[in-house]
Amino acid sequence: MNLLRDLSALEEYVPGRGVDEVAREHGLDPDDLAKLASNENPLGPPPAAEEAIHEAAEGVNVYPTALHNDVRDEVAEALDAPAENVVLGPGADGVFDTVGRAVLEDGDGVLTPEPGFSYYGMSARNLGGYESSYPLRDGDGFEYDAERIVDTYDGEKVVYITAPNNPTGTDTTLETVERVADGVEGIVFVDEAYWEFSDRPTAVPLALERDDVAVARTFSKAYGLAGLRVGYGVLPDKLASAYRKVVTPFCVGSVSLYAARGALGDDEHRRETIELARWGRDYMSEELEPPTYESHGNFVLADVSPMDAGEVAAELERRGVIVRDTTSFGLPSCIRVSVGTRDETRRAVEEINYVYEEGTA
Ligand SMILES: *Cc1c(COP(=O)(O)O)cnc(C)c1O
Repeated sequence: MNLLRDLSALEEYVPGRGVDEVAREHGLDPDDLAKLASNENPLGPPPAAEEAIHEAAEGVNVYPTALHNDVRDEVAEALDAPAENVVLGPGADGVFDTVGRAVLEDGDGVLTPEPGFSYYGMSARNLGGYESSYPLRDGDGFEYDAERIVDTYDGEKVVYITAPNNPTGTDTTLETVERVADGVEGIVFVDEAYWEFSDRPTAVPLALERDDVAVARTFSKAYGLAGLRVGYGVLPDKLASAYRKVVTPFCVGSVSLYAARGALGDDEHRRETIELARWGRDYMSEELEPPTYESHGNFVLADVSPMDAGEVAAELERRGVIVRDTTSFGLPSCIRVSVGTRDETRRAVEEINYVYEEGTA
C-alpha cells in the first residue's frame, strides 16, 4: 500500500529568509539585520494587541467558542458587513484552504495571476485540484486586464485577483473585478492582503451584492500580527454557509483572537503603519537606482537586470539586508523589498544601489 498520495507535482512553499537563519549563516548579529523579505509590519505589533495577548494567557485552557464569534462580529462591524458573511481563518492562507474545501472537487481548477502568490496553487493542488494562470505583463506594468483574464478563463472554479498584487504591487479597480466576474462562471476571489496600503475602495460590497465575488483579508500585514495567523473572508451567503460546514473547529487560537481584537481597536498603530508604507514605497521609487514598478502595497519590486536576482539577494544578505529574490515568482531579475522603518529603508536603498552599481558598472 502507498502510505502517501502521489505528491510528485507538489512543491514546498518558499518563504522569505528569516533573520536567525541569515545571521547564523553569515556570522552576523541578528539585531544588525534589516529583514525586508516578507512584507511584515516594521513597527512591530500594535501595543493594544500586545496587551491583549498578555491578558489572554490565563484563559487558554478553554476552547474559544464565544470568543471566535465575538471577534467575527467585531470584524463584521468594522467592515459594515453582516456577521453571517464574515468568516475567520488561520491567516488568509487558511481562508483560501477552507474556501477551496467548500468549492473544489477532484480535478477542478483555480486561475491565478502570474507573477503572483504561490499559495493559491499549492492550496488547490493540496485538494486534488490544479492551477492555471493568466499573465500580468511586464510591458504594461503588470496591470490587470479583465479581457485578458476572461480570455484565459477555461472553466476554473475560482479566479484569484490579488490587489494590490504580490510581488508586483499592482492594484486593480472594482470595475475590473466586476467585468471578470461577469465574464467567468467561477467565483472571483479578491485577495486584499495589502488593501489597507492602497487607496482603492474595497471589494467587500461586491461580495455582499453578488453571489460570485469573495474577499480575503489578513491581520498579518497592516495589523502587524503575522506570527499569530489570523485572516478573514467576506463571502456571499451560500459560500459562507458552506465554509462553516467544512472549516476546522477552533481554527483560530484564543491568543490570536484577543490580539486581533486589540489590533482592530488600535487605529493609531494602523495609521502610522500605512503612512510609513506610503513614505517607504515613494522613497524607494525615487531613490533606487534599479528601475522599480509603481506599488500600492508595503513593498517595492525592483528590476536588477542584467544581474541575477539570486546573486543580488545573496550579496545584500552578506551586507545585512534581507530582500526577497522573486525567481520563485517567475521574475529571476527582480527583487522585492519590503518597506522597513525609515532607517532600515534608507539603509536598504544605499546597499541595493551599491550592489547594483558594482554589478552593472
Ligand atoms: C501575505 C499574503 C497573504 C496573507 O497571508 P496570511 O496567511 O494571512 O499571513 C495573502 N495573500 C498575499 C498575496 C500575501 O502576500
